[in-house]
Amino acid sequence: MKSEEKYDYLIVGSGLFGATFAHEMTKAGKKCLVLDKRDHAGGNIHCKKIEDINVHWYGAHIFHTNDKFLWDYVNQFAEFNRYTNSPIANYKGELYNLPFNMNTFYSLWGTKTPKEAKEEIARQIKHLNIGEPQNLEEQALKLVGTDIYEKLIKHYTEKQWGKKATELPAFIIKRLPVRFTYDNNYFNDKYQGIPIGGYNKIIDGLLDGCEVRLNTDFFEDRTKWLSLAEKIVYTGKIDAYFDYRFGELEYRSLRYELEVHDTENYQGNAVMNFTDAETPYTRVYEHKHFEFGTQPKTVTTKEYPVKDAQNAEPYYPVNDEKNMHTLKKYQDLASKEEKVIFGGRLAEYRYYDMHQVIASALLKSKNELKNE
Ligand SMILES: Cc1cc2nc3c(=O)[nH]c(=O)nc-3n(C[C@H](O)[C@H](O)[C@H](O)COP(=O)(O)OP(=O)(O)OC[C@H]3O[C@@H](n4cnc5c(N)ncnc54)[C@H](O)[C@@H]3O)c2cc1C
Repeated sequence: MKSEEKYDYLIVGSGLFGATFAHEMTKAGKKCLVLDKRDHAGGNIHCKKIEDINVHWYGAHIFHTNDKFLWDYVNQFAEFNRYTNSPIANYKGELYNLPFNMNTFYSLWGTKTPKEAKEEIARQIKHLNIGEPQNLEEQALKLVGTDIYEKLIKHYTEKQWGKKATELPAFIIKRLPVRFTYDNNYFNDKYQGIPIGGYNKIIDGLLDGCEVRLNTDFFEDRTKWLSLAEKIVYTGKIDAYFDYRFGELEYRSLRYELEVHDTENYQGNAVMNFTDAETPYTRVYEHKHFEFGTQPKTVTTKEYPVKDAQNAEPYYPVNDEKNMHTLKKYQDLASKEEKVIFGGRLAEYRYYDMHQVIASALLKSKNELKNE
């Protein structure tokens, strides 16, 4: 550390990436300062307590992983419950189990065996004559046939993306979960759950012993922050770091509408997807069900896609050719910033699940310590 530098690491962003990196470095005896422009730590996994219920403030978050090491890592900070994600699809009031499985097929067609269900899908696909799928519609039809496509995929996807399914690339839906077992568990991973008491417990545990300054935007005094530490970990938007000189990277965004209901149980499930075209929102979360809550009231969030996402919260990167081309230019600049480590979903412009972002922060902190 030079004499004017007070910290080994200045970490911009207290989301899972920043907090995990800070934790590992603090454990190794390094001095870290974590900044966040929001009024809370934790980034998008932050929970707010409303009616004694942990509300997932930036959308439903379910932790899942196949990696025992990562599962044990998060379990250091909070005990996890046995929550299993089993969303319900609501199509004009008809209810279906997700992901597409034998229960869904039975409700749609009355098929009782995998053979019957496969035959029904094959019957629907036969007349379509789809070769190599050219767009999302063709891809989905080829995988699950017309009924599931029309009722459970088409309108939901079009609402999400604000585009016709025929204008969306096929790859978006390549890994559509389809199961020929009676299994409503959305994820295939070995480990899954919600931290009892909410995600803030994990962030508090990760940031324990670190200095954190909230309501502090790195860009408001960039020169000062850069001079304070030997190295910077930057987890904000990569295009913002370089003053948008090659233009803005696009994101899909969401808007949330919170409601408190004076009833104990509103929809009987944590996640309900609205798959028709008429309902303007895509999902309704009932937060208490993530933790099997028994509070007298309940809190729900309606999730709406945002049409003009430019000034909205950046949620999902749009990894199309144009954006990836722009990203490459920013990455070239980033690789020349010797003092700065770029990490996390915004700085890398890629979708990360929680376990993946933790794995990435662990790897980068390990490399950092190795290279000392
Ligand atoms: C709607 C939605 C649902 C999701 N559901 C799941 C799920 O069910 N399961 C799962 O595993 N993952 C889920 N994820 C992914 C999960 O949210 C991410 O993996 C994780 O939050 C990424 O952490 P991060 O630290 O990279 O980014 P973030 O959480 O976004 O943290 C970045 C932080 O940097 C701060 N920051 C940015 N710029 C500045 C600046 N200039 N100055 C100071 N601070 C700044 C921000 O305020 C923010 O706090 C979901 C994501 C979304 C969008």
